[in-house]
Amino acid sequence: MDQEASSHMIATMPAVTFTLGELLADVATGSAAAPRAWADQWHPREDWSPPPFSVSALLGTAVPHPALLALAGKLSASAAGMDTGLRVEAADAHSVLMACGERRFALGLAGGACTELCRQADCESGMLDAEVPWCATHLLDTDLYSLVTAARFWAQASRRPGDPERSSPDWPVEELMKAAVAVAAGEMMAEAIVTAAFDDPHALEQRDVPAEYGLVLRTRHAMDRERLRLWETAREEAARLRAAAGDCEGCRRELCWLDDGFAAGAYPQVRPEYCSPACDPLPTAQERYLEGQQNWQTRLRGNPIF
Ligand SMILES: [Zn+2]
Ligand SMILES: [Zn+2]
Repeated sequence: MDQEASSHMIATMPAVTFTLGELLADVATGSAAAPRAWADQWHPREDWSPPPFSVSALLGTAVPHPALLALAGKLSASAAGMDTGLRVEAADAHSVLMACGERRFALGLAGGACTELCRQADCESGMLDAEVPWCATHLLDTDLYSLVTAARFWAQASRRPGDPERSSPDWPVEELMKAAVAVAAGEMMAEAIVTAAFDDPHALEQRDVPAEYGLVLRTRHAMDRERLRLWETAREEAARLRAAAGDCEGCRRELCWLDDGFAAGAYPQVRPEYCSPACDPLPTAQERYLEGQQNWQTRLRGNPIF
């Protein structure tokens, strides 16, 4: 990369595509040289040696080997293996942004790390979690089925079988609940999280071992405590959005005068900026979830490898 291009923050690159195997071979055979960002940032000391770097002709810059190996590690579960396709989206002196299908990565040139980014094109924020692959802003643009499914996978990963006290999910539960409340799906989201994060108490009861009755009670208690926590997060967020909107987006009725009912409370059936289903043009959360599920199944049928 020449001096002129690297002086811009993020320069959009021409469409360059290659496989993971080609990139690894390219770096393995490239000449040794440190990227400029590294030379700018790090001052050699006697007791410290930098990681190895090589010039990549495909990326147009020298890259630290640890960053490249971190990228390979993140792609290691890909079914295509070394044939996994990569595309350069953009680059600057500090990082190269790359895409692999829907997944996006920032290959660090100054720090040597590889960060997986939000899946929204052009977004440079990191994703919230391996199971929730968007930033807090773009969670709000994600279709409801994808959002709830991601939350379910994430909550399942936090489950500790037989240990309900340690199963309580943490980060990024608030972001997920806020995104769901904004699209009138808070209750659906809370149930998806609670049922995925804990053992099923009915299944525990079916084991028919009297000594485990305490576990059933503790699991129910932990689930209720989690429901309460999510409900409080939802109530605060719904109230915040309603106060920010002031009037109903549809009929201009003042929202703060709404009493408990289908448009108020922590789990309104309409978006917080609307007073009633007559004003909110969005279909119900259940309808949007089922539509997203059907779209996903159609995609799956059209691409068996997906
Ligand atoms: Zn984003
Ligand atoms: Zn209204």
